[in-house]
Amino acid sequence: MTVSAPCAVCGAFDMAPFFEARAVPTNSCILLPTPDSARAYPRGDLSLSCCGDCGFIANVAFDPSRTEYSGRYEETQAFSATFNRFHESLALDLVERFGVHERDVIEIGCGKGEFLALLAETGANRCVGFDPSFDPARAVRPSRGSVEVETRFFTAADGAMEADFVVCKMTLEHIHEPRPLMAAMRRVAANRPDALVFVQVPDVTRILEDCAFEDLYYEHCAYFAPVSLARLAHEVGLRPIALESVYGGQYLTMVADVAPLPEEGARYDSAAELDRHLEAVESFATRCAARLDEWQSRLDQWSLAGRRVVLWGSGSKAVSFLSTLRTPAVAHVVDINPHRHGHFMPGTGQPIVAPAALVDLRPDVVVVLNRLYVDEISDDLGRLGLAPELVAL
Ligand SMILES: [Zn+2]
Repeated sequence: MTVSAPCAVCGAFDMAPFFEARAVPTNSCILLPTPDSARAYPRGDLSLSCCGDCGFIANVAFDPSRTEYSGRYEETQAFSATFNRFHESLALDLVERFGVHERDVIEIGCGKGEFLALLAETGANRCVGFDPSFDPARAVRPSRGSVEVETRFFTAADGAMEADFVVCKMTLEHIHEPRPLMAAMRRVAANRPDALVFVQVPDVTRILEDCAFEDLYYEHCAYFAPVSLARLAHEVGLRPIALESVYGGQYLTMVADVAPLPEEGARYDSAAELDRHLEAVESFATRCAARLDEWQSRLDQWSLAGRRVVLWGSGSKAVSFLSTLRTPAVAHVVDINPHRHGHFMPGTGQPIVAPAALVDLRPDVVVVLNRLYVDEISDDLGRLGLAPELVAL
């Protein structure tokens, strides 16, 4: 069965549905002040479809009017030492490998501006960012280079700007029509000789392989594998010079330079890679149902045994986990970001507490939403004198 909308990457009429999740919260990073407002938060459907021609995956039930990226949007991961080490090494690698020194840098969707500050600091670059959720009071001031952020969306009109290095990191997956944005990034780069574009998105290859249902949520309406991200670049006249899976396979990064626009009717050759991707898509729903059953029975057993269970990490993965499994076993969610404390989980309403609250809550089990943070969380628990069972997704 195919649906009638064309693929937002390649334009083919070949989008086939393969996975659904009904009535999920339409926002998972929003700060909600009461359990009632959290439980009453608007919901929408996930209906994931994959393009048979390029492998792009979209939530075809996505309604952009249901999203909110405001000062209430709290997405930063910068309170984690593990994440900061990754961020710093990524900035250093880009600066050194691609010669991003004393250059003009633009970042589309810069969040709180932490990565721009790293690019300024590491390469003495002049950086300009765009993000409606930016908070000037929390701006990081680099000791070298400069950072300015405009508290608004980057728009097509901004394509007239010029920059040597155009960054779009963890943003393209929020855009249901990614092609015009990618084309605007190319325009900004094409206004300067030898300019480069850098894109980072979640790598859907790992989501499909590991059945990472916790990484499927409403704000992410676009999911890329290397084959579909490279195709998107090709379609708008960008040529990938590096395409890599990083951070334990969680992120896909691409550095591209400006290329001529493809000629009308030219075929993009990626057959073997596309076939492997489409096979993983085909079997996903069955494999994912088995993983969900496994988690549901684990939670049911903990609940029956009266074990106290908390989640560690209150971001999108936790919202997806709780709204998919709908378990009574989890009464609290822990986060190291103090801006999230005293707020409540969108959709299910559990309070978000600081790690120190666990001293009184005495959990038997801590479910770690991202296994890359197990060591950091284990150290944090040790400092609190706690040794609960750690179970990572
Ligand atoms: Zn396509």
